Amino acid sequence: MTEAVVSQLTEVHDTEILTQARAVLDACRDGRAMQDAVVAAVRRNEQWRGEQCINLLAPEAPTSPAVRALLASEVGTRAAEGHIGKVNRWFAGTKYIDEIEALCVELLKQALRARYADHRLVASMIGNLAVYTALTEPGDVIMSIAQPFGGHSSNRWDGPAGVRGLKIVDVPMNPDELVVDLDLFRKVAPLVRPKLVAVGASMTLFPFPLREMSEVIAEWGGKLYFDGAHQIGLIAGGQFQDPLREGAVALTGSAGKTFSGPQSGIIVWDDPALTEPLTHAIFPVLAATHQVNRVAALAVSAAEMIEFGQAYMAQIVRNAQALGAALERRGIRVLGARKGYTRTHQVIADVRAYGGGLDTAHLLARANLVTNKNLIPGDSAADWDRPGGLRLGTIEVTRYGMREPEMDVIADFMGRILVEGQSPATVMEDVVDFRQGYQTLYYNFDHGLPPQ
Ligand SMILES: *Cc1c(COP(=O)(O)O)cnc(C)c1O
Repeated sequence: MTEAVVSQLTEVHDTEILTQARAVLDACRDGRAMQDAVVAAVRRNEQWRGEQCINLLAPEAPTSPAVRALLASEVGTRAAEGHIGKVNRWFAGTKYIDEIEALCVELLKQALRARYADHRLVASMIGNLAVYTALTEPGDVIMSIAQPFGGHSSNRWDGPAGVRGLKIVDVPMNPDELVVDLDLFRKVAPLVRPKLVAVGASMTLFPFPLREMSEVIAEWGGKLYFDGAHQIGLIAGGQFQDPLREGAVALTGSAGKTFSGPQSGIIVWDDPALTEPLTHAIFPVLAATHQVNRVAALAVSAAEMIEFGQAYMAQIVRNAQALGAALERRGIRVLGARKGYTRTHQVIADVRAYGGGLDTAHLLARANLVTNKNLIPGDSAADWDRPGGLRLGTIEVTRYGMREPEMDVIADFMGRILVEGQSPATVMEDVVDFRQGYQTLYYNFDHGLPPQ
């Protein structure tokens, strides 16, 4: 076998793209030219995705100028393992780092109205693994939401819950609105008596019955935790349910989704008895150095949430509702219509009529409309790569100052391609023109609120 064939059979990545990268490097005169190749690709993305696209990816948020600047700060070169404080650390020289980290912990507690918080999760995935490490033993039964209903690998056999060796039973869901089928949960849960129930999903339109579910499982000492990866910003802004007040013992979340901070994880809890097991699972089990530049950026994004979270998150939800309605007016089917489409930043379109999620997402991307394919109820395991849905999110368009009227314009761009069959190239010109007018990021201390 030739080298090329071997690598084609053994690489997980697209081998054509890797081959192209090798060719670029082979053509470089020296290391500097290699550096330039990397920087040029970053710049191309910045121009395209950062200035010319309408980004409707639900898990992405553009960070504020202050947060971006901190991500490049000197403190990012410092190592600081362990808990905050002179005796707790391995390294001397951390007095200002302790100060930064303590500010972050206290800001997270304040933003999320919680007694305890941890700032060291380099990803929300790691936060979920910390929960499983702290609250379960291998072989335990847990319940979580399956992927076609929005569940995430974090809580399934192919992610942290699986790595922990847990037995996983599905939380029964209502397929039309992506909400828990509480009647069925009341029947199934006592049969399997889960030690832990993970609620929360990557695709969420409406709140979950957390209070009722935690009461059911309390009978045998079961606990519920909320994986608020997507919703933790909405929770901070008071625009979604408040899991810690509704029976969840812990709340995890991604800092880079609705929370609009640096990509990483957040975990908060109220019960002092959980402090030792959860923080032990974080250090020394799952995090050593934890990127102090990111901690500083996370602290500032928490301050932004405290100051702007309510207005920002409320507009995100209004925009999602407006986008759902506008798509339906153009004949594109949207889930949750009966309940006003959504109470989150997400809109889920059923695009089976337009060739499914994969082709639709790539067609729209040719017009600079960035979305993602998504499994929807009705898809089977065989549809994994080519699911029937499209997930849209309104975080980024909102932070650029857009409101309900702009959602109508965006739905129109989509309708021209999907319903009227216009060419993406034609629509792209209008998308780029439109996007020109939205280049300033709001809901932060650099630019405040968007102009009325
Ligand atoms: C995105 C997501 C995660 C993973 O978050 P990261 O911060 O990317 O690690 C976990 N759970 C759910 C439900 C998610 O949607």
